[in-house]
Amino acid sequence: MLENLKIGILGGGQLGGMLIRHAIDLGLSVSVMDKDANAPCSRYTSSFFCADQTSYEAVLEFGKGLDVITIEMEAVNIDALRELEKQGKKVFPTPDTIKVIQDKFTQKQFLLSHNIPVVPGVAVEGKGDLHKYESKLPGCLKKRRSGYDGYGVMVLKTPADIDTAFEEPSVLEELVDIKHEISVIVARNEHGAVKCYDPVMMVFSEERFVLDFQVAPAELEEGIRKEAIAVAEKIADALKLVGILAVEMFVTKDNRLLVNELAPRPHNSGHHTIEASTTSQYEQLLRAILGLPLGDTALHCPSLMLNILETAALISNRAEKLQHLLDVPGAHLHWYGKKGNRIGRKIGHITVTGSTMEDVVAKAETIRKILN
Ligand code: ADP
Repeated sequence: MLENLKIGILGGGQLGGMLIRHAIDLGLSVSVMDKDANAPCSRYTSSFFCADQTSYEAVLEFGKGLDVITIEMEAVNIDALRELEKQGKKVFPTPDTIKVIQDKFTQKQFLLSHNIPVVPGVAVEGKGDLHKYESKLPGCLKKRRSGYDGYGVMVLKTPADIDTAFEEPSVLEELVDIKHEISVIVARNEHGAVKCYDPVMMVFSEERFVLDFQVAPAELEEGIRKEAIAVAEKIADALKLVGILAVEMFVTKDNRLLVNELAPRPHNSGHHTIEASTTSQYEQLLRAILGLPLGDTALHCPSLMLNILETAALISNRAEKLQHLLDVPGAHLHWYGKKGNRIGRKIGHITVTGSTMEDVVAKAETIRKILN
């Protein structure tokens, strides 16, 4: 039965690549659409459709022969997805869910309307508008749409920084005194069944706002852990989510929990679920959107996920470094196969598992030395 289902993924990056691998486990056939002919998924499926995911005509055309359509990025054409829904296709997450989330300001308003605590922020049109809010600085400025891996985030310390600000619709947020950054991935199906993964701790690079490494399970006070799970479940219900949702949260220095942002798709804070959980986030997404029972989310061992960012050292010594890191017991490499050598770009990740967190951390330190 599953082999006759035609699934389409909008977006062909590494998240789509990992989703394809889990779709193969379920016997599904997968088509992928991405505007970049060299996107990682182009190598993994013969049904690769090279076209812009934000184009109405292209998304409609892509959806023609499919039964179920999902996403691995939020920047997609919502009107086309609504039309495909009308034609009887299953589109999960629903176009309404994607629309609320693809804009960081409407996302914030939605959460506030459901009494979920968020980082306070105001919408600004561009640089000119920011002068009105000089009294709110220092603050964190974020592009409303299409930001990722910190590319759409900057700190404005003083009014003098406004000159360097984004010239596009953005949100100016209060600068949060962050103690921890955590993420909870929650899955929900059409019948309203909900399952959460344990919160993970995310550590971001100091110079850039990109994830450096992630640890699961997060070491948190029990009260905060339970609250984080309750918040994620509440958001999934409020959105009437069908699929999976990553809820990124800040634990503030005074122990408040604030939602930073949502992602209604597989997320890098859930990479570890491949090696460390009974059901990976990718399989869980497929289960949720295909009406299959949601899988067990239990963690069966501690894990640490390290992003691999392109460096000059890696470019000059790639083969030797990969040899060494694959020699570390419990290290699982995910190489994204991206074309080109742009310094700073995320080109892979490694998940390290072990019997204790100390063991995992020690192995991760060895790997970090190899990569540097
Ligand atoms: P992206 O969508 O690019 O991942 P995020 O909104 O998650 O952007 O922000 C990236 C990182 O920037 C966060 O993980 C956090 O480290 C930092 N950050 C974001 N918002 C704030 C804020 N209001 N105050 C302080 N730091 C922030």
